[in-house]
Amino acid sequence: MRKQIVIVGAGFSGMWAALSAARLADKNQHQAVDITLIAPQPELRIRPRFYEKAVRTLTAPLQPLFDATGIRFLRGTVKKITASLQEVSWQDDKGEAHRLRYDRLIMASGSHVNRSMVSGAEKYAFDLDQLESAEVLEQHLTSLAQQPESEARNTVVVCGGGFTGIEMATELPARLREIFGENAQTKIIVVERGPQPGSRFSEALRDVITQASAELGVEWRVNAEVESVDASGVTLKDGQVITAQTVIWTVGVQANDLTQQIDAPRDRQGRLQVNEQLQVVGFDDIYATGDVARAATDGRGNYALMTCQHAILLGKFAGNNAAASLLNVEPLPYRQENYVTCLDLGAWGAVYTEGWDQQVKATRAEAKKIKQSITRELIYPPKADKIAAFEIADPLAPFV
Ligand SMILES: Cc1cc2nc3c(=O)[nH]c(=O)nc-3n(C[C@H](O)[C@H](O)[C@H](O)COP(=O)(O)OP(=O)(O)OC[C@H]3O[C@@H](n4cnc5c(N)ncnc54)[C@H](O)[C@@H]3O)c2cc1C
Repeated sequence: MRKQIVIVGAGFSGMWAALSAARLADKNQHQAVDITLIAPQPELRIRPRFYEKAVRTLTAPLQPLFDATGIRFLRGTVKKITASLQEVSWQDDKGEAHRLRYDRLIMASGSHVNRSMVSGAEKYAFDLDQLESAEVLEQHLTSLAQQPESEARNTVVVCGGGFTGIEMATELPARLREIFGENAQTKIIVVERGPQPGSRFSEALRDVITQASAELGVEWRVNAEVESVDASGVTLKDGQVITAQTVIWTVGVQANDLTQQIDAPRDRQGRLQVNEQLQVVGFDDIYATGDVARAATDGRGNYALMTCQHAILLGKFAGNNAAASLLNVEPLPYRQENYVTCLDLGAWGAVYTEGWDQQVKATRAEAKKIKQSITRELIYPPKADKIAAFEIADPLAPFV
């Protein structure tokens, strides 16, 4: 009987897992392995760009690529994983329920921001985590132009000063000027629990973030935590109130809830602990990749982060190893020694760092060029061409 690899999710890790598994099967004359990917839509959503405008356009089609590489795509959502039966239950886009048996399952269902952490955030705050929610935020920002000018209308509070919060906040001065007019007095405030802007990052990176924020007029409230959000703005734990019609929530990212259906060790973000082949601990037939995997990147105590650069390579290794286990091929231990960051800083430019100690290597326009080449080219799917796609789906091929 033909062996079945089932992949859940068509994000960065799911797409590359499918291509990498298909590549290995192709190399081994297909030796009776079928690769099926289930996701709500056959498109790659470019999440790292969701702080930009025209968010609906930030997708890339995947069906032609899947057709060219022999990957079966099923449009739907996985609802249940029954590990004891090696089976997933999924619902198609018409609401009909189906079951699918697997020999190897690859979990690649991503992550989501948790807006239920403080009272009122779910109802009154926006986020830019998924295409749909980023679109709601964009429509709201655009609609503000129809409202009478006021301090609340012109103020945006960004909750959380991590990478997503910083990219959103530093993009906003220019975005709001476009919406309200060049001379509008706007206020963008980042609320951050740490003692300084970018407190989680290296000193060199922090200094750049502080400088860019100052030049762009982005304010930081540090040592501050949000107590609640309501229709008039944000109340901080120390009682301060910031009146704002726009509150954007960026903290508390969690692995997709499907991970909870697998009775295996997980970290605080809900990510499944995996071994170096990316098998979920205790389940030889289930692999986890991308934002749902807690994977060691090297022998020095570093772990993959919820980033594209990790999701892409994790995906390639997970797909390769799932196929290898069915084709009698030696698996490849996941290794990802290099770690870079490239943070967009709006009209100021960007900052590029290398290494886990985040040494700043480029800033302003030079780093912006790097950022744009990453987010507008490098992370997009390969051409719908089997040979070209398989070449870079090899986990050992040079990429990022
Ligand atoms: C605003 C923002 C900015 C970011 N900026 C950067 C950056 O600058 N650099 C960087 O490296 N990373 C960045 N990231 C992180 C990066 O986008 C993620 O790490 C990456 O998308 C993870 O890839 P993934 O494949 O694990 O998940 P995703 O890309 O989220 O894909 C998950 C897939 O699973 C599908 N899915 C979910 N549930 C189910 C289900 N039940 N059944 C079937 N399919 C399902 C989804 O529809 C989707 O296709 C950013 C993220 C955000 C939100």
